[in-house]
Amino acid sequence: MRNGLSADLIARVLGDAPKYTLAELEEKFPPRNLPDGAFVTRFAPSPTGYMHIGGLYQALIDCKLAYDTGGVFMLRIEDTDTKREVADAVEIIKNSMQRFGLKYNDMPEYGPYYQSQRRDIYHSVAADLLARGLAYPCFLTADEMARIRENQKAAGFATGIYGEFARDRDITDDEIIRRLDAGEVPSVRLYSTGNPEQRIFCKDAVRGSIGFPENNEDIVLIKSNDGLPTYHFAHLCDDHFMRTTHVVRGAEWLPSFPLHIQLFRMMGWAPPMYIHTSTIDKIDADTGKQRKLSKRHDPEANVAFFLADGWPVEAVLEYLFNIAASGYEEAKNKGQVKNIWEYQLRPKKIPMSGALFDMKKLEWWAREFIGTLPVDELARRVRDWANEYDPVWAARIGDKPEYLKNILAIERDNPKRIRKDFITWKQTLDEVSYFWDDLFAPNTEYAFNYDLLRAFLDGFDICDDKDTWWNKIVAIAANAGVKNGDVAMNLRVAVTGRTNTPDLYSIMQVMGADMVKSRIERIIK
Ligand code: GLU
Repeated sequence: MRNGLSADLIARVLGDAPKYTLAELEEKFPPRNLPDGAFVTRFAPSPTGYMHIGGLYQALIDCKLAYDTGGVFMLRIEDTDTKREVADAVEIIKNSMQRFGLKYNDMPEYGPYYQSQRRDIYHSVAADLLARGLAYPCFLTADEMARIRENQKAAGFATGIYGEFARDRDITDDEIIRRLDAGEVPSVRLYSTGNPEQRIFCKDAVRGSIGFPENNEDIVLIKSNDGLPTYHFAHLCDDHFMRTTHVVRGAEWLPSFPLHIQLFRMMGWAPPMYIHTSTIDKIDADTGKQRKLSKRHDPEANVAFFLADGWPVEAVLEYLFNIAASGYEEAKNKGQVKNIWEYQLRPKKIPMSGALFDMKKLEWWAREFIGTLPVDELARRVRDWANEYDPVWAARIGDKPEYLKNILAIERDNPKRIRKDFITWKQTLDEVSYFWDDLFAPNTEYAFNYDLLRAFLDGFDICDDKDTWWNKIVAIAANAGVKNGDVAMNLRVAVTGRTNTPDLYSIMQVMGADMVKSRIERIIK
């Protein structure tokens, strides 16, 4: 500890007198009135203009933990990096949350939820630390810090502002006043009394108690350039006064864990429980090594990719959820739960090590999910996707919405035997594209038996019921001395261009007489 600063000096250092005392803050943000066991969680992204799939994974865990326990899930925008502001960035986050159905409750009494609007709170807490000699104004310039760093490296020391390298750690009041008078703007640094020879134990809900060397770095609490807090200090103030019970965040924050516990102890506040989640990884195609999905190299790192590509949001969530709660898949297969909201997430079971993002597995969830959709809903989802992402398809569907619905209804009447052909809304349209003449590609490879096609055309009547239609095919086959399936295959390929399709009778019924005839005639010619 050092000498605390006077109230006057604190106001000069911070650029304003603190608005609140700690007691006032405690009163302003009282402990929440929630049932025992209710989790208060928050998703706290920085507005970078991009929502990473790993962020969605964390947000889902946050949302579920609060949902399962009747708690509160907040969205907090960590916009303290004024150098990195991106237009629309918050909209992108909010829109992704909304699209994936992750509902947060903004409770005005615990806000504001933008860190840039919480300056008064941070300054008030910083003032308390300055008054107690647990923080100090630091006037080191960027150049001076760079020089310290170089010297440390050259001498083989750990880099950073600590101990003897923390020039202003014991700065006198006179010196502070002199520098302020000269127009210098300080940052506020922690006066760390940690000793790296000693260990501090930090509790993680998944990893248990983790021992670290104590932190001895005088880290910046309030930045000099904009008066805003660093992540570390904002985390301390916000998660205390928002009464967060569980902090779900990426494992990249583990190294600063001891610092955060140190900060909570200095304030005499109980730290929240922490859940450091694993990264979402892939096997790098070049190196063959497992690495985090990267914003720069992997389109699937971006949540927007899944929307544009037409993946059902429910399936993406189920896939991610099953990483966090691996028992979910079995429970769902056994019919014990219908969706993720019915399956309780257990914090202790959330995996610690990097999970491989498996597109094939996602496909499986998507097939299963789409397989359960009633046809009206399926058609609506496909149409919504086209309206947003594919104007040409949207126009095609817009002309004849009933037509799309009839196509998608094929082989969907028996819930036990629904085909699992569809994976994404986009791929669904590709899969049924042959129902549109402008997209139909006649099969030029297949060795047609023209006699069979002619015989079918001669007797073709769209009004035939399925039995009559089939009996005609059987008769043609008998007459030509071929198998029934041969006739059907010739027709299938002529009408759809494909060898594998759903029920051919239904396809013809949906297409209508003209389309069926013209396609067969075209092959014969
Ligand atoms: N803004 C921080 C990040 O994006 C939040 C970490 C946390 O959840 O505390 O990594």
